[in-house]
Amino acid sequence: MDFSTRKQTLELRRMALAGTLENTALAPAPAHTGRAPDPVQMGSARQAGAGLAGAGSIAVPARAGLDELRRIDAALARLREGSYGFCRICGDNIADDWLDQRPASPFCKSCAL
Ligand SMILES: [Zn+2]
Repeated sequence: MDFSTRKQTLELRRMALAGTLENTALAPAPAHTGRAPDPVQMGSARQAGAGLAGAGSIAVPARAGLDELRRIDAALARLREGSYGFCRICGDNIADDWLDQRPASPFCKSCAL
């Protein structure tokens, strides 16, 4: 079977995700290299409100993107080792139309549902 098109789709998707995650996830990273901020000093009402809004709008999509990135990485690894396209639960071939919809899926239609 020829999965070169699937591979291309996955790699393009991976690059798009990695670019998005770089914009959102790299920004807060330097905070971890310094000392832990004093919670009392950081606890003003204005900052707490802004922090909540920021966490709600940025953290969730980044985490969802990271999950998808992991699934894509796993799918690309299976492409390399030759197990791509086979269900990890029942071992059957995964249907083409299912892979069209979710090329990173490690499960066939009946096992995923
Ligand atoms: Zn299955």
